[in-house]
Amino acid sequence: MQVEGNIVSLLLKTEGLLNGHFLLSSGLHSGKYLQCAKILQYPIYATHLGASIAERFKNQKIDVVIGPAIGGIIIAYEVARALGVRALFAEREEQRMTLRRGFEIKKGERVVVVEDIITTGGSVHEVVRLVQGIGGEVAGIGALIDRSEGLTIAGIKPVVLSTMKIETYDPQSCPLCRDKIPLVKPGSKQLLGQQGARV
Ligand code: ZN
Repeated sequence: MQVEGNIVSLLLKTEGLLNGHFLLSSGLHSGKYLQCAKILQYPIYATHLGASIAERFKNQKIDVVIGPAIGGIIIAYEVARALGVRALFAEREEQRMTLRRGFEIKKGERVVVVEDIITTGGSVHEVVRLVQGIGGEVAGIGALIDRSEGLTIAGIKPVVLSTMKIETYDPQSCPLCRDKIPLVKPGSKQLLGQQGARV
């Protein structure tokens, strides 16, 4: 089956991108909420999106794709599927990003680091350092969405399917609060009061 539409239209269709008035876990408010797990729950979309990122690396010799857990696991796997290479994930052990479960990267292997959403680039940067630290060569970085407005990570410009600017607001100066748009905590169906209290 052919998948129609770009990543933004697919995110809207699968409610991976919501418009409204949201209370984020940081306590800030936002008019948009992005959750890539909602689109990646559909294997057909995950495979399609992974192939779209992999397309940009198909003429390079790539040995391994790795994603930071948890957000990067599925999409890294799908990029690896399209490239016909191994898929690994890195996870935190006592704060440090590490390879567990017997995963290995051999010296000189060419690696693509893949994440779902790049926000600060922190996790991706840590995985890049992890790969380089064990002798792998980072051939590129890929992501579904770049929220960072064009961040370069460890000197590498990520291959992204879309960029997206998502404004966040302090509750005291939130224009959506001012307009009395009902506040919602993403992932729940609850409506919240103006300062985040349940109503
Ligand atoms: Zn608000």
